[in-house]
Amino acid sequence: MRPSILVIEDDPPIRKLLRMGLATQGYAILEAPDGRSALDLLARESVELVILDLGLPDMRGHDLLRAIRASHPGLPVVVLSSRDDEPGKVEALDHGADDYVTKPFGMAELLARLRAALRHQLAAQGERPVFGVDRLSVDLVRRIVRVDGAEVKLTPREYDFLRVLVLNAGKVMTHAQLMHAVSTSSDPQYLRVYMRQLRQKLEADPERPRILLTETGIGYRLRAPDDEPAHGPRAPGEAAPPPAESGA
Ligand code: CA
Repeated sequence: MRPSILVIEDDPPIRKLLRMGLATQGYAILEAPDGRSALDLLARESVELVILDLGLPDMRGHDLLRAIRASHPGLPVVVLSSRDDEPGKVEALDHGADDYVTKPFGMAELLARLRAALRHQLAAQGERPVFGVDRLSVDLVRRIVRVDGAEVKLTPREYDFLRVLVLNAGKVMTHAQLMHAVSTSSDPQYLRVYMRQLRQKLEADPERPRILLTETGIGYRLRAPDDEPAHGPRAPGEAAPPPAESGA
């Protein structure tokens, strides 16, 4: 059975873009232009992932998210939000959205987010023991971190943060989620210090990270193994960049 994706979006051109982009990847698609029809479809159809626009005509996207979380706890939800809505993104993530994509988005980026959300759902049963991306490898069973094959010593707290990021690779983790996961002080400054330390140990150039990426105003994202290397700043110009050159 093909995975079917429910697209909840009131804007017809964006629905069309999603329909075409997802079809090329072999996904079956269900479409809902508002919250009511989305809940209808969810009650009747088998859905494996939801793409949810936060700006809907008939209900608040966040309320719909909460309803989906309540009725379908394990169902991955990727949120579409506007560029300047950092608080809305954080609220969605903290209330159980798996990830977000900022409009206008490129199809390659959206597909990477969907893969990460689906992969994370599958990995929830059994975590992969060794994780590798770029020059980094992390053995979660033996707690060994290597960069270019050489073992790197992390402090226990640094390792805890890295472990959470590895278990959620490809997904954005909000500041609150990271702090909560390692149950530590809620001062974001504290988190920044640890992320900086990790970059100094893991990145070839800590000022231009390729592995541990910043989501400004939101949190951090560890690159997933099948992500494009350092997908630069989100192009304000729309349109799906082809998965072409992934040069350094
Ligand atoms: Ca909308």
